[in-house]
Amino acid sequence: MTGHEPCNDSMSFETLGIDPRCLQILRRKQFEKPTPIQDLAIPPALEGRDVIGLAQTGTGKTLAYVLPSLTRLAAGRGKRNSMLVLVPTRELAVQVHGVLEEMGKPLRIRSVAVYGGVSLEKQRDELREGRAVTVATPGRLLDHMRRKNVDYHDLSILVLDEADRMLDMGFFPDIQRIVRKLPNRRQTLMFSATFPNEIAYLADRLLTEPERVQVGLITKPVEAVRQTLYPVRPEDKNELLFRILNEED
Ligand code: AMP
Repeated sequence: MTGHEPCNDSMSFETLGIDPRCLQILRRKQFEKPTPIQDLAIPPALEGRDVIGLAQTGTGKTLAYVLPSLTRLAAGRGKRNSMLVLVPTRELAVQVHGVLEEMGKPLRIRSVAVYGGVSLEKQRDELREGRAVTVATPGRLLDHMRRKNVDYHDLSILVLDEADRMLDMGFFPDIQRIVRKLPNRRQTLMFSATFPNEIAYLADRLLTEPERVQVGLITKPVEAVRQTLYPVRPEDKNELLFRILNEED
């Protein structure tokens, strides 16, 4: 166990302060204790603080923001358009929407998923009907915002999930355009698997005195693999490969 990881023995979902109706679902799913990122991110998020969570997919990062956010929304009035989750892909939008619907059901908090590649109309109708939570890819959401299908004047929680992937996919300008239309007074939770300079910059602009929590090592795939370039004629490739394999440890 490294210094970054929490002591998990005494922690339970009950002691974290999550809405009891969500706890019931967790028990039904046999999720017995929080994962390390949940342990670290849930307490400051429940306090209403901004959080940067450095964690990969598979660590339980979705519930690390869904549980405290829904608990806070349920304690308030759970108004329409009070939470927005920005994600890089349609697949993640569908997945996060599923988790939000499952956990939000006993709290009567509904969610809508908004992503490109499908018709605007159904999403427009759901947005106009008004849901407390929107999960969206940035490009499609901007489209709806420009068509005045939705506005976020009353937003209280913004989540950026897989922020590094969103930047890799070129969503930075769209994210900025969306954020300009959000209230400054809000809670912002940002999750990212890596922490390059661009993410530090984004965090600096969007978050206020964030609590930074991290599990495991931050992967930097490019640095984890040593790359070497050998200019070589195609017919010499095999010979060179054998030589390298023989010589290198
Ligand atoms: P995520 O990293 O959010 O994509 O979650 C990865 C998987 O872990 C999902 O299938 C979750 O349902 C599951 N999961 C999340 N939290 C827990 C937990 N505390 N105990 C067991 N499984 C969990």
